[in-house]
Amino acid sequence: MSANIGFRLNRQKEIEFYTIPSFEETRIVKHGFTTRIGGASPHPFHSLNLGLNTEDNEENIVRNFETISDALEVPMDKMVLSDQVHGTNIRIITEDDGGKGLVKPMDFKEIDGLLTNVKGIMLFTFYADCVPLFFLDRAKKVAGVAHAGWKGTVAKIGEKMIKTMVSTYSSNPEDILVGIGPSIGTCCYSVKKDVHDQFNNNFINTIGIFSNQDIYTWQLDLWKANEIILKENGILSRNITISNLCTSCNTEKFFSYRNEQGNTGRMAAFIQLI
Ligand SMILES: [Zn+2]
Repeated sequence: MSANIGFRLNRQKEIEFYTIPSFEETRIVKHGFTTRIGGASPHPFHSLNLGLNTEDNEENIVRNFETISDALEVPMDKMVLSDQVHGTNIRIITEDDGGKGLVKPMDFKEIDGLLTNVKGIMLFTFYADCVPLFFLDRAKKVAGVAHAGWKGTVAKIGEKMIKTMVSTYSSNPEDILVGIGPSIGTCCYSVKKDVHDQFNNNFINTIGIFSNQDIYTWQLDLWKANEIILKENGILSRNITISNLCTSCNTEKFFSYRNEQGNTGRMAAFIQLI
């Protein structure tokens, strides 16, 4: 059995964002993946740049967060931001963390995955080609997001998220819904031997993950790699949804680090238990 395909495009006030149909059906979360539509930042960050570590003017970025806060009706002191380093550290977010990284200092470092069971807290991770992974345990009511570029994928941050949900919240993997969001697709993502070797070391087989371009270059499918990791850890195919949206093919909608030579903004994956 294969995963579900397709996220849904939503508009709320000025902003456009993608949601996962199976997550919407639970009615227990507000969630989404932002596009570049609806913000205040100028070229090359036009316009809804949410990357506080980009060269964009900080005033623009804060204004973009205010736009999101207004459109989603979530106060900024309920938002919690990640500190991404292409690692696999995961933080359990509590009520006290509200606003950290945005309206309060961030007192944690090197966090690529966030999990919470606190209603009202909205978790944020940031992207420009890397894979956003969304998690929702509809039985235990736990939500999370994780940043999985090739490094996070080969180090299996998806597996670590599931294991952390099981150990911290007693989640049953069969209750967990997962969304694999917009990112660079295999159509646009060629890699060299160093990356190919690391996948070969960490995966039992890489059939379906790579297709050969020539003897020195491979096309890497990060969606497939993450799907394999999720299934190996007990997530059911019918509970996985892949957006099938390539950021590099769609720069009118998405920021793409590769397509725009690094000079671009960041989108956000966000999730909040309601
Ligand atoms: Zn593409």
